Amino acid sequence: MLMCRDLAEIASDFIDGELSGRQNLTVKMHLMMCKDCRTFIGNLRASSNLLSAHSSGRVDEAFLRRIDERVAKALRARPSDSGNSNDTP
Ligand SMILES: [Zn+2]
Repeated sequence: MLMCRDLAEIASDFIDGELSGRQNLTVKMHLMMCKDCRTFIGNLRASSNLLSAHSSGRVDEAFLRRIDERVAKALRARPSDSGNSNDTP
């Protein structure tokens, strides 16, 4: 069984699609059960997208932190279970 710590180690490979089919499945199953890791992967994916879009070779740490804050904010602001039950059958 995959632990959060294990997932963190292979998270970037998961995002890059470099895991084997079996590993990929294990990660996905963990993500289904673990909200923390979903958030983690979401953050990582967002920053890796931004980084590859801006890949100039050097990474500014303040810039990275700003991305992180934005992602965290966006995740928090996402209207998931905030009253309007439109998508519940
Ligand atoms: Zn986890």
